[in-house]
Amino acid sequence: MSEKCFACGKTVYVTEQLKILNRVYHKRCFRCKVCNCVLNMKSYRALDGNPYCRAHYPNVSEHGAQMNYGGGQEEQVQEEVEEEINNEDLEL
Ligand SMILES: [Zn+2]
Ligand SMILES: [Zn+2]
Repeated sequence: MSEKCFACGKTVYVTEQLKILNRVYHKRCFRCKVCNCVLNMKSYRALDGNPYCRAHYPNVSEHGAQMNYGGGQEEQVQEEVEEEINNEDLEL
C-alpha cells in the first residue's frame, strides 16, 4: 500500500510522507513552486494545487500585483491578426 510522491514520482514510505491537498509528497519534496524551499504543513500556502512559500504565494495582499504572466501579450497578438484580415478585405 505504498504511494507515489507527487513531486518526484518515487515511492513514499509512511515515515517520510506528507499528505497535503489529497496528494502525497516526501517531506523533502514538498517545496515552493517558485524558489524550491522546503515547506511543511504550517508554512505552506496552496493555490491551484501547487504549494508556495509565504513569500511567493501569488495572492499575498501585501504585494498587490504579482500576477504578471504575460497574458496581455496574447491579446495584442490577436488584435494584430484581425487588422491584417481587414486590410485584405479592403484590397479585394
Ligand atoms: Zn518525492
Ligand atoms: Zn518560495
